[in-house]
Parts: sequence; structure tokens; C-alpha cells
Amino acid sequence: MSELRVRFAPSPTGYLHVGGARTALFNWLLAKKQGGTFILRIEDTDVERSTKESVDAILEGMKWLGLDWDEGPFYQSECFDLYKEYVQKLLDDGKAYRCYCSADELNAKRELAMQEGRKPKYDGTCRNRNDHPEGAPYVVRFAAPQGGEVAFDDLIKGRIAFPSEELDDLIIQRTDGTPTYNFCVVIDDASMRITTVIRGDDHVNNTPRQIQLYQALGFPVPQFAHVPMILGSDKARLSKRHGATSVIAYRDMGFLPEALINYLVRLGWSHGDDEIFSMDEMIQKFDINNVGRSASVFNTEKLLWLNAHYIKQGDTERLADLLLPHLSKREVTTLGGPDLMLVVNTLKERAQTLEEMADRAVFYYNAPQAYDEAALAKFEKEHLLAVFEAVAEKLSVTSAVDAAGFDLLFKELCTEKVWKMPQVGQPVRIALSGGTQAPGIGEIVQALGCQEAIRRIQAIRSFVAAR
Ligand code: GLU
Repeated sequence: MSELRVRFAPSPTGYLHVGGARTALFNWLLAKKQGGTFILRIEDTDVERSTKESVDAILEGMKWLGLDWDEGPFYQSECFDLYKEYVQKLLDDGKAYRCYCSADELNAKRELAMQEGRKPKYDGTCRNRNDHPEGAPYVVRFAAPQGGEVAFDDLIKGRIAFPSEELDDLIIQRTDGTPTYNFCVVIDDASMRITTVIRGDDHVNNTPRQIQLYQALGFPVPQFAHVPMILGSDKARLSKRHGATSVIAYRDMGFLPEALINYLVRLGWSHGDDEIFSMDEMIQKFDINNVGRSASVFNTEKLLWLNAHYIKQGDTERLADLLLPHLSKREVTTLGGPDLMLVVNTLKERAQTLEEMADRAVFYYNAPQAYDEAALAKFEKEHLLAVFEAVAEKLSVTSAVDAAGFDLLFKELCTEKVWKMPQVGQPVRIALSGGTQAPGIGEIVQALGCQEAIRRIQAIRSFVAAR
């Protein structure tokens, strides 16, 4: 068997969609698994809709996800000469012809066909035409083989067959001389020696036309695997209406690339009941034949669950680096403040996203400007003042330096004063963070440092005393 060559061929008319990313991932995994080659091709023949920004956004998304390519990016817009050559070859071989039918004529024919209940299809007027009206505009049409059917064994969907009769004489070159989409795809896939085409199943209907072109040009026909769509919760095709669909939007919302990758691989593919896969495990276990035939529904809750898992397991130093842009967005500077690694360690067990982690990290760098009054009101003023005074005093003389040491200090204080832990824990948490949703107080004090903790306790003490 020849060496596997696969490609991801996005059209640069927008950002990298999660559906596209999943197609790229399936291609990438198969290439890695079989020691094959993964090619990136930018399908930018639609010059009106293709933009440089979109190319950049797609490359950025691929890089962020770690889907590195072995060849490319190749740009279709740079291959027009090649496409022209093959159009000429088909013309020379009598497998394509010039069609001079005007748009008006074609519209009239289409309408007539509809009225007579026939499928609108080019009637082949110019197929056997020998005159070449001087200077008249023309398109080039492929003379599609007639009779029988075009069939292929899709690696995901099984056998798919189309009666040839349903396939039009495809326009392969427009009046302005530019090649059309389906034609370029075939020339590229053939010249890049693609052995397996993995793409979204919105392209199933293009496949029989493309197969006819491969055959007419004498190219080997690749294998096809059409991946079912991703749907939103209402079972409609996933779109912006359902929330974010761009890979980079997920990065900006604080998702880790490995969480999104793990989520996407399971969207349509399964390996027993396994949910968590490292990249290596995915490469080992992925099998295109185990991709399901039906569409899958995008489930943000599950993605959050996976993200929380990867954050919890994540390397603290890396998480701290990744957290920085999210903190900057909140105008938080970590310079001169608590060690971000310590801060991350106090938050990674509980955060579902880096955005959430950043929200929870703010208090470490900006002392509370206000307190959760309702939570404070649960305690008597005298009790609060006594707690703050005792804690400040203990902290000012302690030799403890880590969370365990500070937790012990609070425990001893409770025993000494016959207080229950929450009677100390909650007021201190409010003093240090402003609210009650914060990590353990020992951890907070360790990250803030004793001096800053004392400063915050004194601040809340004055606040309570003045009420
Ligand atoms: N450019 C097409 C798209 O973005 C993909 C075509 C293909 O994979 O054959 O949907």
C-alpha cells in the first residue's frame, strides 16, 4: 500500500471553525498513526471571499491546537497555470467542450425543465457543437460520462452511489478563464498524491463529480471519508447562534488546547467508554473506521468538564504563563504581587476555565475595595473585631511560611479561644478576598505573604469598627 497522504483544505472565508478543526484533527491523527504526511492547503480560488486575515486566523488556530503540518500551506490561487493546463488537456482529449450558452438561455432551459417536472440539468446543447463563434464568451464544461452510476466506498458512510444521469456537465472553467472549485480540488488532490480525503459530509455530493474527473484525467481515485456534521443543542447545524464556534474564541474564553482537542476527538469518534485521551493515546487508538455515521451534538458542559480536568492536571508554570493575558485583560499586573505560581496552585483545583481562574486571582493582586456585607452580617460585630485582632496578632509573630503552617495557626487559635473553624475561616476569607468564594485561608496567606495578610485584616477591622 502506498504511503498515506492526507490534507486539510480550508477555505479562508472566516476563522477556523470547530468543525473544521475536528476534520483537521482526524486527518492529523491518521497521518501520525500511520507515519503518513499531513498537508495544509488553502482553498482560496474564491478571490472575492478569501482574505489574508482569514488565512492568518486559520493558521493561528491550527498552531494553537498543535496540529502541525508536514507540507504547505499551499495556496490554490498560486496554481492557476496548473489548472489551465489540465483544462486544456481535457479539451484536447475531447473530454471537455466549450459551451457558448448564455446565462439567459440557461435560465430559460432551467425554468422549462422545472415546469415540466424534470431535474434542471444542462441539456448538452454545446457538447457536439463544431462551430466556434468568434469572440463569443464561453465556459468550459466537462463532458461527464453517461450511463451507469458513480459509486465509492466511504470509510465512514459505507457505499454511496449516484446515477450518472444525475450528474451535470460540470463547468470547469468560467467565462473569465478561472477554474471552478470542484476541478481545482481534483487537480490538487491528484498532484499532491492524496491517498485519503477526509472532509465534512457537506461535500458528499461533490464526490461523484470529482471521481469522474479523476477517471477522465487518468488519476488514481483516493479513498474518501466524509465526517458527519456537528450540530447545536437544537439539532440544527452548529453556528454562531449556538455560541462560539471559532477555535480562537475558545482560547480566549480560557480553554486549554488539549481540552478542546480531547473534546473534538470524541465528537463522532469513540473508543469504548474512554473519555480522556492524551495526544499519544489518541494517535494510538484513533481509527477512521470507528467514526460514527450520524451527526454529533456540541455539548459545552462536557467541554468545560474536560477543561477543568486538564487545568487540574496542568503544569503550574505553564498555567501561570497562560493565565497572564487573561489577567492583563482585567488590568491586573502581577509585578511586585504574590508569586503567580502559588496563586495558580490555590486555584487550579476549582477553575473550569482560565477566565474563571483569572476572575478568582484578581483579589491576590488588588486588595478588596468592598466586602460581601451579607456574609459579614452573619457575625456579631464584637466577634469579628475579636477575630481580626487575634489573627493579626498571631500572624505578626508567627514563623509559619506555608499553607499547612498557617492552617495550623488558625486551628490553634480556635482551640485557644474556643471558636469553631468557620467562625474564624469565613471572616478571614472575607478580609483577604472580599468574599466567601475563595481557596483555603492558609493557602491564601501563603500566597499573599504575612505582611499583606495583616494589612488586609487591619483594613477590614477598621471598616467593621466604624460601622
Ligand atoms: N475547502 C473546503 C471547505 O472548506 C474543503 C474541501 C475538501 O476538503 O475537499 O469546506
